[in-house]
Amino acid sequence: MIQKIYKFGGASVKDADAVRNLADIVGQHKDEDILLVVSAMGKTTNMLEKALANFREHDGNLGMDALHEVIAYHDGIINGLFGEDANPGFAENIAGLFIELWEKLQKTDAPYDYQYDQTVCYGELISTSIIQEYLSKCDIPTRWLDARKYVIAEDDTHFRAANPDWDEMRLRISKLNDEHIRGLVCITQGFIGGTADGKHSVTLGREGSDFTAAIFANCLDAEEVTIWKDVDGLLNADPKRFADTVKIPHIPYSEAIELAFYGATIIHPKTIKPLQNKGITLKVQSFLNPDHEPTIIDGNHRKSDESIPSFIVKDNQTLVSITPRDYSFMNVHNLQVIFEACDELRIHANMIQTSALMLSFCFDSDAQRLSQLRNLLHNSFKIKYNEGLQLFTIRHYREGLELDFIAGKSILVKQSSRSTMQFVLGA
Ligand code: ASP
Ligand code: MG
Repeated sequence: MIQKIYKFGGASVKDADAVRNLADIVGQHKDEDILLVVSAMGKTTNMLEKALANFREHDGNLGMDALHEVIAYHDGIINGLFGEDANPGFAENIAGLFIELWEKLQKTDAPYDYQYDQTVCYGELISTSIIQEYLSKCDIPTRWLDARKYVIAEDDTHFRAANPDWDEMRLRISKLNDEHIRGLVCITQGFIGGTADGKHSVTLGREGSDFTAAIFANCLDAEEVTIWKDVDGLLNADPKRFADTVKIPHIPYSEAIELAFYGATIIHPKTIKPLQNKGITLKVQSFLNPDHEPTIIDGNHRKSDESIPSFIVKDNQTLVSITPRDYSFMNVHNLQVIFEACDELRIHANMIQTSALMLSFCFDSDAQRLSQLRNLLHNSFKIKYNEGLQLFTIRHYREGLELDFIAGKSILVKQSSRSTMQFVLGA
């Protein structure tokens, strides 16, 4: 029975040393029946997005340059791990994956979202292949699983933000427990999945590997998921942005969902629900200091959990303000029309505010989705928008905590509840 899921994100496998460190951690726990869920290495997903964009703009040369960058990056890691003695079968396997990727990058007649999933998934396929080979070299017996056969999309219409088909996933993933051989470390890809017929790849949305870990944990009835990070657990703010961050030792699922929803990037927002539903503990632990205590996220509530305020910044926000052309109120009917359009376009509102004549919300900037939204609503609504904004949220707010961060910035929206204060900020 697989009881523990370890998720390793891009930063934890960004170079040969990082992969060695992963192997050390896994080596220490290899008898515990673990499943590894691993992301693409470093910034590979961004590099693949760039390659895809270049191919689609019919600039084959630039596209090839970007693809070569991806190949060179992985070659560097492979050399660092295996030197001259990479096993020929392995080298062939990796070369084969790059050829498939190259072929798929050229199929630019397909819709963008579709081609995105067929190509970007190679980041994870390649990273897990390299890591499996390295674990074998370290005498850690593994089984490589193609996540596209387990993480199944509900339909083949929503690429780039697949809706998982829970019944189908449960059926397929739970079988792994019967097939699982004690002492084997299973390794699979985060972020990617497939359609039920096995014909197409899908992805779960950027940073979706945490969600993958939660999907496997839920369907396997696992005990716990550990997300291995380059920070010492869940901090109350991003240390790259705020000085004096502190580690939150414990929070309940509900609080983790709030933080993720507002943009705490440490956990993908969809991760918590599948864990909460089965009472599976989530640990956030440092791969740099694996002996430090992790943050624990579970179903227990403790009074002390609310004593530490959290600061969350989400960049690259677009604020749209929508007003009915006929001057009708922003009533339930109008809200329904607008939210249905958002739902159809998979636009996720990070902050919503309404007044008599206006609905304002902000979402992660996406030029394509914004123009589709404007097209859908144009006949009945006037739409204004501002781009390049920040959403700043303080959980467990106390007066004055915002001042340093907002100093010198313009406040476009301010909203507060008993426990949360939010600002949409311009430059
Ligand atoms: N590789 C994907 C990304 O960079 C998924 C992940 O890392 O969670 O978004
Ligand atoms: Mg990540």
